[in-house]
Amino acid sequence: MPPIQRTPWEIGNFSLFGIGGVFAALLAIYGQVRRVFQSVQPEASILDRFPSMVPPPFLQAKADEPYSKWIDELVKVQDQLADASRSDPKGGPFHIVYFSHRLGFRATKLSVTAAWQSIVLAIYPSWSLTTLFHEYLHIHTKSLLSDLYPFEDTDFDRIYAIYSQRLNGNSQCQNLPDFIKVIFMETAGELMALEATRGEDHAFPKITPSAKLRRALKAYFHEFDEIFVHILDFRYFHRADPDLYIKSIWSSWLILPFAAERLHEYVFRTIAAVSHMRGKGKDRIADFDWSMEKLKTQVESLIRHDFVRNEMIDALLTLIDNEEEVNLLRHRFFVLTPLIQVLNRFLVFPRINEMLFAEEQDEDEGSGVYRYPEVPQYYTNRIESPVAFLIAQLKRVFDGATSEEALASYARKSLWLFQAINSTLRHNHN
Ligand SMILES: [Zn+2]
Repeated sequence: MPPIQRTPWEIGNFSLFGIGGVFAALLAIYGQVRRVFQSVQPEASILDRFPSMVPPPFLQAKADEPYSKWIDELVKVQDQLADASRSDPKGGPFHIVYFSHRLGFRATKLSVTAAWQSIVLAIYPSWSLTTLFHEYLHIHTKSLLSDLYPFEDTDFDRIYAIYSQRLNGNSQCQNLPDFIKVIFMETAGELMALEATRGEDHAFPKITPSAKLRRALKAYFHEFDEIFVHILDFRYFHRADPDLYIKSIWSSWLILPFAAERLHEYVFRTIAAVSHMRGKGKDRIADFDWSMEKLKTQVESLIRHDFVRNEMIDALLTLIDNEEEVNLLRHRFFVLTPLIQVLNRFLVFPRINEMLFAEEQDEDEGSGVYRYPEVPQYYTNRIESPVAFLIAQLKRVFDGATSEEALASYARKSLWLFQAINSTLRHNHN
């Protein structure tokens, strides 16, 4: 037996043929995503256009009626932003892209990595390359937040002044970037208050002292960043399809060794991402309950597949059925909804989603249904959008009856998936 076949890594078998083609496909996926973001350039819109936009007024009370009127005000500003995106592609950094055994799916300033398991099992939802999108979005949100998160000392003092004038009847600020910064600040303060009171009602708006707010902004940055990434991943890459998105992220989470300790966090991020699709944020409690129900039914539907261990699914369903826990999550959601709405309204650029899925040959008249072949047909048309192809394959696996297939069968299909992306991108067979 050749030594390479004795390695504990499955990748050993593949190495007999080389994984150059698999790597090229990974680059093709990254290349498409990068091209689209470089072309729409949300960062440039935020710098060019946002400062001249008259922002919505601040929310003066959190009761339902003023809240839903406030959403109407957000919509008015959102409508003026409708054509904010540009399309004069600009250069930007290329990341080092590779499969990593140590890092798995991860993004850093200089690199984007995919889990090595994906080399063999890319078509298996737990190791789907769609997780790469999430990591890419971390790079994107870090760059947006560097302009919109009131971290820096000078900015902090200026934004704190606007934030604290709110109570003195000053309900408006100068421009949209400042408005968004105040919302971040306010939400961080509210979350801190919520954690101190475990969900007891407290007056709103209420001014948090500045030293405390500084700490809160640091403490919640990671959570805000994750929520932002989830909203974008859901809307840009999963086409705002809650069923698909829930199955997709939970298949990849529930196999992680530390998933059990982080269920609350993951449930919350899921709800924060999909809730907007029910009623566009006007009825917060109904949005929350709808999202929890979705989460429950979609996770239950994973039971008939064998992607994740059933005891992990049981742990999640137990949490969803625990009234007290759900109530805490509901309070948290209530506090975070203004921020979730602001992110959905102003920082999602629909043009990105359109460009990621633009396919002339394979889509049936803009229906979102693609005529990609089933394994093992070899595909000779050019796949214009690796993103659309990956999402279509993921959907197909979930829609399959059951998956008592051997891993070897997934491995074979994964190899096919890489070949389809890789070879068809290089040669146009028309
Ligand atoms: Zn993340």
